[in-house]
Amino acid sequence: MRSAIDVLFEVSKSLNVTVNLGVSDFLSLEVKREDLIHSIVSGNKYRKLKYNVLSAKEGGYDTLLTFGGAFSNHIAAVSAVGNICGLKTIGVIRGEELADKIGGNPTLLQAKENGMTFKFVSRSDYRRKAEDSFLKALKTEFGNFYKIPEGGTNDMAVKGCEEILTEEDKEFDYVCAPVGTGGTLSGLINSSRPNQKILGFSALKGGFLYEDISKFAKQENWELINDYHFGGYAKINTELVTFLNAFHTVHGIPLDPIYTGKMVYGIMDMIKQGYFPENSRILVIHTGGLQGIEGMNKILKQKGIPLIQYS
Ligand SMILES: *Cc1c(COP(=O)(O)O)cnc(C)c1O
Repeated sequence: MRSAIDVLFEVSKSLNVTVNLGVSDFLSLEVKREDLIHSIVSGNKYRKLKYNVLSAKEGGYDTLLTFGGAFSNHIAAVSAVGNICGLKTIGVIRGEELADKIGGNPTLLQAKENGMTFKFVSRSDYRRKAEDSFLKALKTEFGNFYKIPEGGTNDMAVKGCEEILTEEDKEFDYVCAPVGTGGTLSGLINSSRPNQKILGFSALKGGFLYEDISKFAKQENWELINDYHFGGYAKINTELVTFLNAFHTVHGIPLDPIYTGKMVYGIMDMIKQGYFPENSRILVIHTGGLQGIEGMNKILKQKGIPLIQYS
C-alpha cells in the first residue's frame, strides 16, 4: 500500500507547469508554478519537508517538532504534512500573547485544525531554540520528536529543493527565487548548470544570508538581490499590494506579499532597468506561500491599506 506522503509525492512528479508571461518582446519570462503542488504544503515547503518526513518515518519517530512565527508558511506546511502522513506535530510559536488569539489567526487556526499542538514562548525563550537545554525541556514535556529547524532548512531540505529544477529547465539563462533562510536557493544552485545564473531575492533586510547559502551551495553561479525587501521581512505597503493585484488580474497568477510578490516586483523593475541582456530566458520559481494572505489581509484592513485579491 502506498503511504499518504507517496501520494503527495506523485502530485509533484506530474507537475511541471510553466507559464510564459509575455511581458517583453526582448526576453522571455516564465513562472514555474510550484504553488500548485498543494494548497498548504505548497512550493518550497513541500520540497523542504519531503526528505525530512521520510527520514522521520525511517527513524521510527511519530512526532515532528518545529518553530515559527504567527503567519509562518512553514508551520502551516508542517501541520498539514503531519496530518496527511499520520505524524503528530508540535509547533513552538514565537509570542506568548498569541496563545489566546488563535481564533483570529488563519495560519494558526488552520494548523490547529490539522492537529498541531502549540507551545507559545516569549521572544527571549524563542531565541534559545537551538540550545540543548531548551530542547531537553521540550523532550521532557512532549517526549521524543524529530526536530525540523525554523524555516525548515537543513541538508535534507536542500536535497528536496534540488528537485525543483528538471531537465526541461536547463535552457533558462536565469533562475529566480525568493530567499528567507536560503535553503531553497541552495537547492536550486546545486542542481543548476554552471552557465545558468541563480538570483535570490531577499525577503529580509541585511546581507547575512551570504554565509548561510555558502554553507549549502556547491557552485558559485549565484547572486543575492537585496533591493526589494520593502523595508524588511513581512513589511508591506500600498504600492506592493497594488502590484500584486494588477499582476493577478493581468496574468491570473496570485503572488504572496512576503516572498514571491516582492521577487516578481523586483524582476519587473530589473527588466525595466535593463539588467537582463536581450533574449534572456528567465525562469521564476513560484514558491507558494499563498496561505499567508488571509492573515496579512487582516493586518492590511486594520491599517486601511487595500486588500490582496487572490481567488
Ligand atoms: C519559506 C518561503 C521562502 C523562503 O525559503 P528559504 O528556503 O527559507 O529561503 C520563499 N518563498 C515562500 C513562499 C516561502 O514560504
